[in-house]
Amino acid sequence: MSIADGIIKDLEERKETLWLNPGREHVAPRFERNGYKFVHMKAAQSRFMRFMPYFASAFPETEARKGIIESDLIPIPGMREWLNGKGANIGGQVFLKDDAHLPIAGSVKARGGIHEVLKIAETLAQRAGMLWPTENYSKIDSDEFREFYSQYTIQVGSTGNLGISIGRTAARLGFRAIVHMSSDAKQWKKDLLRSEGVIVREYAGDYSQAVANGRKESEADPNSFFIDDENSEDLFFGYATAAMRVSVQLVKRSIPVDARHPLFLYLPCGVGGAPGGITYGFKQLFGSNVHCFFAEPVEAPCMLVGMASGQHEKISVQDIGLTGHTVADGLAVGRPSGFVCNMMESLVSGVFTVSDERMLEYQSKISETEGIRLEPSACAGFGGLSEIERTDSLFVKYLEENGLSDLMSDATHIVWATGGGLMP
Ligand SMILES: *Cc1c(COP(=O)(O)O)cnc(C)c1O
Repeated sequence: MSIADGIIKDLEERKETLWLNPGREHVAPRFERNGYKFVHMKAAQSRFMRFMPYFASAFPETEARKGIIESDLIPIPGMREWLNGKGANIGGQVFLKDDAHLPIAGSVKARGGIHEVLKIAETLAQRAGMLWPTENYSKIDSDEFREFYSQYTIQVGSTGNLGISIGRTAARLGFRAIVHMSSDAKQWKKDLLRSEGVIVREYAGDYSQAVANGRKESEADPNSFFIDDENSEDLFFGYATAAMRVSVQLVKRSIPVDARHPLFLYLPCGVGGAPGGITYGFKQLFGSNVHCFFAEPVEAPCMLVGMASGQHEKISVQDIGLTGHTVADGLAVGRPSGFVCNMMESLVSGVFTVSDERMLEYQSKISETEGIRLEPSACAGFGGLSEIERTDSLFVKYLEENGLSDLMSDATHIVWATGGGLMP
């Protein structure tokens, strides 16, 4: 294995660490990567917009925003002050992207998971001659469509939140929905799904096992669709749409992103789809002026291990002696998505690890200082924010090498709060 020795030792000892991506390249906005372009994210965005009248009708919680599934960008001065008091040295502005309060899913999975379900639903109805792209999609919220969709099954493997986003949306549309849950999934997530008519299958093993079982069960049924978190393009481009929304939210706050005003993103990472898609989207809009870092638990740094070794999905955290068990259930993934690793090779700036204790501490502090309730997974990003400008931190090298050290007082930081909005 060719992971740099220092990193592998830190990982094995469960020390918090940072890996900087030596393969990162300069990209200009609207670049093409592995055959994918700006239009792929734009198509996902347009699909969400076609479905707005459906959501406003079928999910009353989305009515106030007319069926847009979106969350706020929130300044968090109290949290910044607390971090700086603890030895951080953050000069620029700090925001929380509050995806924990995205409607329907209560997590970042709303964009990815729901997008893929919508694509399946739209394609089936169009093929059956029941739906045209120029129509008002509120007609889908009807017995006729529910009966049509009930012939089909949608299945997914999940540590919890992906199951909620896909299970709820699929069941409400009328599909038979089956969620294959790993042992890390929280009981309340299973209860919520069952209460909405979703079939929940439980496994003693981890996420990869839940996915493998789901894939097998789905393959045996010609009317079943399996949403494959480890390889899905439709999830990825659903996640990417976040960038288009946030760019508008930044404009509304008169916050520039350019060569003199860098933007830093701290993105909690499980299998990689959500942070990878978001990174792809932001790079499409802002090119090299956005710097994307992934955050993983010390027990489950699958993306770090996959990318640093160059072995992508062929290596797991268990291969280097870690358990994959963490309080951050949304990030409890042992093996990364190969598709995302490929896409990120030249785009991601780095990956850092965070201990469970620190995630729990951030969880209680963000609630105390800003009154925002998050799940532990959603707090991992603070680990990077607190280190980025510390003089004794591994991030210093990144800032120096990229000529950013003198620009940090004009930088903007977004900590992506990925889930927890539905916690009981
Ligand atoms: C799923 C999830 C993530 C990470 O998304 P991946 O696509 O698995 O990398 C982060 N935070 C929460 C709360 C999640 O549910």
